[in-house]
Amino acid sequence: MELNDLYRDVILDHNRRPRNFGGLEPADASVEGFNPMCGDRLTVRLKLDDDKISDIRFEGQGCAISTASASMMTEAVKGRTRAEALRLFDRVHQLLTDDAAPPADELGKLAALSGVRAYPARVKCASLCWHTLASALRSTNPHVLPAVTTE
Ligand code: ZN
Repeated sequence: MELNDLYRDVILDHNRRPRNFGGLEPADASVEGFNPMCGDRLTVRLKLDDDKISDIRFEGQGCAISTASASMMTEAVKGRTRAEALRLFDRVHQLLTDDAAPPADELGKLAALSGVRAYPARVKCASLCWHTLASALRSTNPHVLPAVTTE
């Protein structure tokens, strides 16, 4: 089986049967993300246990890539610390945008998203859930990452 076929199958599978899809009450953070280029909308909710993401869910409506990416993201970051999750975001962002990105073993299934590089218009579909996650994590810790003010 070609690697590209394998990647496509992973994305189709996660789009058909999104993992961790649904609401989460009560959540420690809840952030809505929107990608106007495609119309993808999703809400990421998570619970923190000290600094660890103990649970995470998403819901919303979007294209196959945005849904599959969010599904894979929830699997990848559950149980990780805030810092680990943000580092993973950096790696995924590099994977999505940099043709010279080295293969990242730690990415596991997320490597399937590398196929999106060939379609620059879809990069925002794949990264929407990650930007939303990062914003949710920041919202839970205003003392470490103070909100930007214009003063
Ligand atoms: Zn999309």
